[in-house]
Order: sequence, then structure tokens, then C-alpha cells
Amino acid sequence: MTWHSVRKGLSWLVPEALLLGAAIASLHVDALRDPLREFAPFYPVVVFALGFLLALRFQRSRLVFALLILALVEWGLDRTRAGDVGRFVWQAAAVLIPLNLAAVMLMTERGIFTRVGLVRTAALLAQVGGVAAVVRYAPGLAESFVRYRPFPADWSSWTPLGQSALLAFVIGAALIVTGIVFRASATGRAFLWTLIAAFLAMHSVDTPVAATIYGSTAALILVVAVIEASYLMAYQDGLTGLPARRALTEALQRVNGKFTIAMVDVDHFKKLNDRYGHDVGDQVLRMLASRLAKVSGGGRAFRYGGEEFAILFPGDRVEECLPELEALRHSVEESKFTVRRRLQRRKPARSKNGGNGARARPQITVTVSIGAAESNGRQEAPEMVLQAADRALYRAKDAGRNRVES
Ligand code: GH3
Ligand code: MG
Ligand code: MG
Repeated sequence: MTWHSVRKGLSWLVPEALLLGAAIASLHVDALRDPLREFAPFYPVVVFALGFLLALRFQRSRLVFALLILALVEWGLDRTRAGDVGRFVWQAAAVLIPLNLAAVMLMTERGIFTRVGLVRTAALLAQVGGVAAVVRYAPGLAESFVRYRPFPADWSSWTPLGQSALLAFVIGAALIVTGIVFRASATGRAFLWTLIAAFLAMHSVDTPVAATIYGSTAALILVVAVIEASYLMAYQDGLTGLPARRALTEALQRVNGKFTIAMVDVDHFKKLNDRYGHDVGDQVLRMLASRLAKVSGGGRAFRYGGEEFAILFPGDRVEECLPELEALRHSVEESKFTVRRRLQRRKPARSKNGGNGARARPQITVTVSIGAAESNGRQEAPEMVLQAADRALYRAKDAGRNRVES
């Protein structure tokens, strides 16, 4: 397993699993029982206040709706915990939460005080109204809903939750996973963890402190995910997913001792854009980026801007990096990029002699020129090294492109 895949795996757990893990652990430490009981009433207040403030300020309507769902449940359960009514409200909430969370995860950002936003708010409140109406006017229905059990009883004997709630959580999780697979979104993963925390909250109905802690942690996971997403927006390049120039600037401020920088520039990229269109150009950049991200020798790739990338090798002399860079240049030269069908132009330019290129998927090859420079170990400004790498890049271009210079 490479470091790259380890990092990718860890990114699934941090910070969401840590937050949830801390909540679970704190509930199981005896010494924390009393402090936790004191803390529990304040936890939701702080999380929801912070969350709503952030969501309104950043105009994250999905966060607003998700928080609204969790807050409504907290509020509703607090008032109806006991008796038949309480049982019904809790079971109904346990069915509605996962389905609503999945719906919010799958919906697009369409604003809060827009028409779509108001319709969504109304749909949410209608469910609250529906639950209240059943309590008031159809207690028999509520009764049979709580008792409803389509599967054998021992399938659900491990939890106080009813089978319809369990089914709803499974469906909600499946929808969220589908959403993550088909539409990579920065907060998709957080919704899955929130769903787990919400499940634990509903499952812990008979220990109110635990229910509050899990319920608020469910909200906290989403709030943290939105903060993380804003960080990513600033430091990650939207097109390629590589760290952006701002991240390079900061990495250069942190690096100490020897290091090497390589500047990588696509050759004749303007021609490629002119010939196949900007979308295909973007696709090529993305594929190049995924190749650069896997550069060997401890190098870290950044998108510097446009069709230029930078690779930072901390602690390395330039001679040590040249073989890696040469291998990279060669692997780019060797690879054929297949243009996705949906990006192909409707009427592909036929060659003059009416060749058969019209239906084939065009295979594009590109080359890159690379210039590398090292810090000389003295107190030299990193920008100077960057400029030296840039000069080396221009030498590579002048010398005919598709080569590495230092
Ligand atoms: P050279 O070999 O000298 O580097 O030639 P070049 O055509 O690659 O260099 P030039 O700097 O003239 O053109 C760079 C082109 O890259 C111009 C611009 O249209 C394109 N470009 C920059 N950023 C993007 C991007 O994000 N997507 C796409 N599709 N094209 C981009
Ligand atoms: Mg350029
Ligand atoms: Mg170029």
C-alpha cells in the first residue's frame, strides 16, 4: 500500500470518525459521567448556534436543512420523550431522519431564501405537521405504526428502534453511498458519518444524555465538514484536485534545508485546446494531474496555474530528482488520453481525405517540459529557487520541448 492510498484511506476517517469516536468514548468513561451530564445541555446549543451562523454566513443551504432536521428532532424528542406519544414521535423521527438526511445530501445547493429553498423548508415543516396531526387525530394509526414489524422479531431485538426505522436507516445509508459514488462532493462523506451518529442518538433513546451527545455530534460533524470544505476551496485546485498555488507558497515557507522544485509545463497546450476544445483540455489536465500526484521520490505536486504544475521535493538535491522527473516526462509522453465521448464535438473535424476519424474516439498524446532547480542550502528565498526552475523550464522549451533541464 502506498502512502498515497494510506492518506486517501485516512481522509475517510478524519475528522468525522474522530469526533464520533470521542463521543462514544466519553460516554463510556465512568469518570466523565457527571461532567458529561453537566455539559450535555450546552452542547447542542453551542453546536446548533455555531452551525446556523456559519451556514447562513456561507450560504450553505444544505447545512441549514440538515441542521434543521437534527434540531427539530432534538426539540421534538425533548418534549415528548415519555408515554405513547413519545414512543410514536421518536419512531416517526427515526424513520424520517435518515430519509431526509439522504435527500439533503443528494440535493443541489439552491439557496435558502429562494423559491426552491422555501419549498424545501415547507416540505420539512409539513413532515413535522404530519407527525403532530397523527398524534392528535389518528392515535390508532400511530399505535399500529409503532407496532409495525415486517421482519422476524429477533432481527431487531438488539435495538429499541422499530423495524421501519432500521429499514429507513439502511435506505438512507444506501442513498448517501450512491450519492458519494456518483457525485464526489466534499461533504458527502460527512453525511454518512452524521447518519451513523444520528442512528446512535435514536438508538440511545433510553439514556437522554447519550442521545443528546450523539445528536449534537451528528450536527457537529456537518459543521466541521463545511469548515473543511471552505479550507479546501482555498487550498485545493477545483479542476484537478491537486493542492493549489497558495498551498505551494505555504509549503515553501515551511520547508527548511535543502529542497528541489520542478516546474512542469504542457507543450503546445494552446493548440490542443484549439483543436479539441477547452473541455478536452480540462480533461487532459485532470489526467496529467493524477499522474503528477503519483510522482515518486517524495515529491509533492501542485497546480501552479493554467497548464503549469510545480513539484516540491523536500530534502533532495536536484540530481537526485532528475531520474524521477525524467520518468515522469517519459510516462506522459507514452500515455494516450482517450477523449470521453460526451466531450467529443458533435461534428468532429474530418481529415481532408475523408478518413475514418469521424467515429473513432480520438487518442491524444501530450508532452511536458520540465525545469528543475535546488535551493543552495543558504538562506535563500524560496521564490528565487522557483524563478531558477522557471528559467530552466524555458531552456527546456527553447531546446525543443519534451525534455527536462536543470
Ligand atoms: P508552450 O509549449 O510554449 O508551453 O505552448 P503552450 O501553448 O502550452 O503555452 P501558452 O502559454 O501559449 O498557452 C497555454 C494555454 O493553456 C493557454 C490557455 O488557453 C490554456 N489553459 C490555461 N489554463 C487552462 C485550463 O484550466 N483549462 C484549459 N483547457 N486550458 C487552459
Ligand atoms: Mg505555460
Ligand atoms: Mg505550455
